[in-house]
Amino acid sequence: MTETFPAEAPASQDLFDRALAVVPGGVNSPVRAFRAVGGTPRFMVRGEGAYLFDADGRRYLDLICSWGPLVLGHAHPAVIEAVTRAAAKGTSFGAPTPGEVELAEEIVSRTPVDQVRLVNSGTEATMSAIRLARGFTDRPKIIKFAGCYHGHSDGLLAAAGSGVATLAAARTEADLAGLPDSPGVTRSAAAETIVLPYNDLAAVEAVFAVEGDQIAAIITEAAAGNMGVVPPAPGFNAGLADLAHRHGALLILDEVMTGFRVARGGWAELSASRGEPIAADLITFGKVMGGGLPAAAFGGRHEVMGHLAPAGPVYQAGTLSGNPLASAAGLATLRECTSGTYATLDRTAAQLSGLASKALDAVGVAHRLQHAGNMFSIFFTSGEVTNYDQARAQHVAAFTAFFQAMLAHGVYLPPSAFEAWFVSTAIDDDAVEVFARALPAAAEAAA
Ligand code: PLP
Repeated sequence: MTETFPAEAPASQDLFDRALAVVPGGVNSPVRAFRAVGGTPRFMVRGEGAYLFDADGRRYLDLICSWGPLVLGHAHPAVIEAVTRAAAKGTSFGAPTPGEVELAEEIVSRTPVDQVRLVNSGTEATMSAIRLARGFTDRPKIIKFAGCYHGHSDGLLAAAGSGVATLAAARTEADLAGLPDSPGVTRSAAAETIVLPYNDLAAVEAVFAVEGDQIAAIITEAAAGNMGVVPPAPGFNAGLADLAHRHGALLILDEVMTGFRVARGGWAELSASRGEPIAADLITFGKVMGGGLPAAAFGGRHEVMGHLAPAGPVYQAGTLSGNPLASAAGLATLRECTSGTYATLDRTAAQLSGLASKALDAVGVAHRLQHAGNMFSIFFTSGEVTNYDQARAQHVAAFTAFFQAMLAHGVYLPPSAFEAWFVSTAIDDDAVEVFARALPAAAEAAA
């Protein structure tokens, strides 16, 4: 028997109680509240390498990695040094800086885009890319896929509006119900977002056949990671580009999660290396490119990006965009991310996911392990998972039991059955051992 942490976490609970008084729900982003899994959200005070340390002095192997950005683990020396050096020169100038040019050059050199605009969050990146696509095409509507998350701007939280009657079959009730539709999103914002099932090209084709001349863009996660990991079926992304282009629309490939995490050049590179280049018109980035500080970007070819202010008429701006600290952290992170880094991340992901799957097999827990590069998640189901309906058919209670047991054994997994698990290069043999030791009890709990 390995030692376990008690379910109570008094110091975290105390902080949570204080937070509840002054912050809605006690957190600054909903998933952190542990609503889906129950119990006290852990308040973290320090990160080092593969580990996080909470307010109760407990150490956790971190498989969230700040929801993706920390490919190098916590407090990587190169990143800390770059940020410290940048901070000593001043935190924000509201004027162009050399660091942001270097970061933009690094991104452009790794990806298919000619130009990027730096912003502060993935939400801003996708929101701005959509505005640019609408400005470029002079069309109002966008297509997104159920289960794909692109941040919390109104149009992307909106369920599809009334739509075209003939498309009702493609837009199942479950698709609409699954969307994080929110009070405060207006009917008109919703009406311009068409929501379709992921991995279903025929549904996209049907929409274009009816209202193709109204559609500015399709936006899709390069590989879905926000309903758990659901990779695109072979030909899906390329097919989207083809359909969009045949109808004069753009394809926005959202690489906020996959960008610089699954390969030097993100999913676009990985997909091209597998013989499926994706002719995306705009690509959004975030997470890893900020090295743990707020930075994101969207980019594309000159012809499209040239429509952005001040070169063109489509307005977009930001007080802290291209911030020198965030640019320094992002640049230091990307420079550490060589091809060897991705080989390491792939190996670690294969090792951890293989161990978890084996432990679940050993006690007969039905599950499905799914990868998109080094991002992976385990669905507690025996069925296939190619879209959001199937993802939601999993046995969530089994995940919850598994999560709680892993937490008690010092492994910090995403507190939801519908998230990707993220590895870092800081995960060494000892960290793998921590994970392996936690598994038998967690698998047993899920059984
Ligand atoms: N796009 C994708 C694919 C994401 O996974 C996320 C966040 O998880 C976003 C956009 C939004 O990014 P942010 O949370 O930085 O606004």
